[in-house]
Amino acid sequence: MMNFTPRSVEKVEDARLRIVWDDGHRSEYLFPVLRRCCPCAQCKDEWTGKSLLDPDKIPDTLGALSASLVGNYAMSFAYSDRHGTGIYTFEMLRKLCSCKDCEATPENSSASEGLRS
Ligand SMILES: [Zn+2]
Repeated sequence: MMNFTPRSVEKVEDARLRIVWDDGHRSEYLFPVLRRCCPCAQCKDEWTGKSLLDPDKIPDTLGALSASLVGNYAMSFAYSDRHGTGIYTFEMLRKLCSCKDCEATPENSSASEGLRS
């Protein structure tokens, strides 16, 4: 399995998160999009991986107050809706990257399907 580590993490214009990975790849995420993918037990069924969130309830204006590292494998975000329990592993963040290069890889398109075997 590939291991990805962010070289730098920064907030862009209060609305986006930018991660530059150690392989030089650059990813940008909108905070509402990250929020809708929140992997915590409140937002996602732990057994089926199905989202328990109503995406319409997440405003497009949602921001994040802070981002913090979790160990050396993940990040968490304090969103402006006061939610902040989701732990986003680097692997997950890398898979969420929606740039043209990543969307073109088949591994990425299956990642969004969740656990369905
Ligand atoms: Zn959550």
